[in-house]
Amino acid sequence: MFSRYYFSAPSGEKRYLCDSCDRTYSNRSSLKRHMNYECGKLPAFPCTLCSYATKRKTSLASHYYRKHVGEDGALPPPHEPDYIVPE
Ligand SMILES: [Zn+2]
Ligand SMILES: [Zn+2]
Repeated sequence: MFSRYYFSAPSGEKRYLCDSCDRTYSNRSSLKRHMNYECGKLPAFPCTLCSYATKRKTSLASHYYRKHVGEDGALPPPHEPDYIVPE
């Protein structure tokens, strides 16, 4: 899956090419990160308290109540999720 590459003109440098878009990377691990976490992904609302992430803000809210509201009913700190576009 990560074996494709091409030689970019004119330097002949070997670049790894994403199967799903036209981005290229100089090393395989960067391509793998892109394909796993970036490529084709829609903006997400990540939970700041665990690894949960959802594409819907309402789902994040219900996740908070189910998972992170303490026994005393205290809510976690206010959260304004912003999707951060990786470099
Ligand atoms: Zn891609
Ligand atoms: Zn969470």
